[in-house]
Amino acid sequence: MGLTIGIDLGVLVGLVSIFFYVFVKNAITAQYKVYLLFHFFMMIWPIGQVGVHTTDRPHLQIFYITLSFVGLSMLGFGWMLFMKFLSLGAYYKPSRNVVLLLLAPSLLLSVAMIWNPANLFVAPVGGDFGERQYGPLFWCMILLLVASFLYSLRLVRDKARMQTHQAERARLKHAFVGIVVMAGFPMLDLLVNVLLDPWLQVIPGITSLGILASDVCFLYALRKHRSLDLVKIAQQDVVDTLSVGIIVLDEHDIVIEVNRNVCPKLPVTIGRPFELEALLDAHLVEANAKPGFLKAFRMPSGERAHTELVLGAKGEPKQYLAMHAAPILVGGSLLGKVITLQDITELKLHILKSQEQNISLQERNRALIYMQDELFQANRKLEQMAVTDSLTGCFNRRFLMQQLEHEVLTNLRYRIPFAVFLFDIDLFKLVNDTYGHVVGDEVIRRTAEAVRGALRRTDILARYGGEEFAVYLPHTNLEQAERLAQRIREVVESNTIPTGRGRSPISVTISMGIHVVEEQTDLQVNDVKQYLKELFYNIDSALYRAKDDGRNRIVNY
Ligand code: GH3
Ligand code: MG
Ligand code: MG
Repeated sequence: MGLTIGIDLGVLVGLVSIFFYVFVKNAITAQYKVYLLFHFFMMIWPIGQVGVHTTDRPHLQIFYITLSFVGLSMLGFGWMLFMKFLSLGAYYKPSRNVVLLLLAPSLLLSVAMIWNPANLFVAPVGGDFGERQYGPLFWCMILLLVASFLYSLRLVRDKARMQTHQAERARLKHAFVGIVVMAGFPMLDLLVNVLLDPWLQVIPGITSLGILASDVCFLYALRKHRSLDLVKIAQQDVVDTLSVGIIVLDEHDIVIEVNRNVCPKLPVTIGRPFELEALLDAHLVEANAKPGFLKAFRMPSGERAHTELVLGAKGEPKQYLAMHAAPILVGGSLLGKVITLQDITELKLHILKSQEQNISLQERNRALIYMQDELFQANRKLEQMAVTDSLTGCFNRRFLMQQLEHEVLTNLRYRIPFAVFLFDIDLFKLVNDTYGHVVGDEVIRRTAEAVRGALRRTDILARYGGEEFAVYLPHTNLEQAERLAQRIREVVESNTIPTGRGRSPISVTISMGIHVVEEQTDLQVNDVKQYLKELFYNIDSALYRAKDDGRNRIVNY
């Protein structure tokens, strides 16, 4: 007998070991694994139940009873985990903490039940455990099962409410039925075989039947919706090996799929809402792109949205990602979104570098433009210097002659009257000799200034020689010319010039030769230079006449 049990126990241990080996080593979805774990816990109950009825030895009875209830309490854990998978999708990966949190109560109770201190779990009635009395630990276990039942129920209900997918709802409905069946039968067992035990006959196998029935429900829920298909594993493989980061959201923006190839640090968890705003706040390359992206992202029609993110804390190398959000549309209705993340760090760094180069080029360009402007100003100054007399600020003789070469031709061709004056300061040598050259210069400067004040804007005043000036007066007939010449003479005569401290100011006079060219019918000019030479010769002789006639006067040639 001892040997038979030994062999059987060995076989059981061997089978269980193989079960776990296959379970851990083979490529099946996590959901499938959880199901098998769940299934394993389910099997423990009937094994224990069969065992307890096939022996009347108390130590074997307590072993089988404990085994059954340990299995049942572990079922509470398996239940919750399995429901999490069913409700959160095939690729839900629970964190270690979640698993530990779900497992801890069942584990603690199991240890307590195995220990059975002071028969707090179960006590024999009449010497063996055929008849038995359940203690507080048993009721704790029942409480745990009820709590697990309610928690699982809530998970499935919440998920089913949010789910608009017909197939997904059906799947959750089957799981729901499974939970109710699973909880209903042990409760019935509890009622009939424990609470009403004194009055009713024992009905064996109620819980076992319940376990079997609910298992069928769960399996149906799984198989019907291909949750165990290899295709899904293959799909997961494809997604995992893509060089693009993918986040799949359902219509409530809950993450249902993610691969972390591109951005392992992104805070995205399957089964949790996708924190888009927080992500944009923390990582947008251009902060002002947020409203535009959100607007497109939240369009009920499902717009495509695009933006760029930058990851990496201060001091770390930055990672740039292009983020696209595209709608998943089936028959015009929005079922969710696919977000893809592409690493564009290299491209971005390239762009940033060329932008930097661009900026430095622009700066150099600006400096060049500035230099060009300075050159232009200097040139203008030079040009002006080339045509002005430095002492008086009047035009110089070269400029006057250049202008005249052009003007005279036009005037003659179109019969426009014009006049030219030539005036010389009288007895200037005397000024120099009496007051010195500095005062002499001042007299030249102030005389020029006074004359300029008496001229029109279009007239040209030029320094012709030492203290000799020429004036060109366009559109001027004889009468106007004589009047202007008179005015100039008077202005100079009345212009007083200071001669220095302690000396009274002086004034000078000028003598002037003028020549007025009015309508000349038959004049043909071939050599304008020659014409001007003669013109000035004539005016000069008029000026000499003015000197000879006693100075401070005007002579018309
Ligand atoms: P007038 O013309 O009435 O016959 O007598 P004048 O004394 O003015 O004789 P002239 O015109 O021949 O003399 C001009 C003098 O002006 C000679 C020269 O020393 C002087 N002079 C010429 N250019 C300048 C100058 O830029 N500054 C000064 N201070 N003197 C000058
Ligand atoms: Mg003179
Ligand atoms: Mg002179």
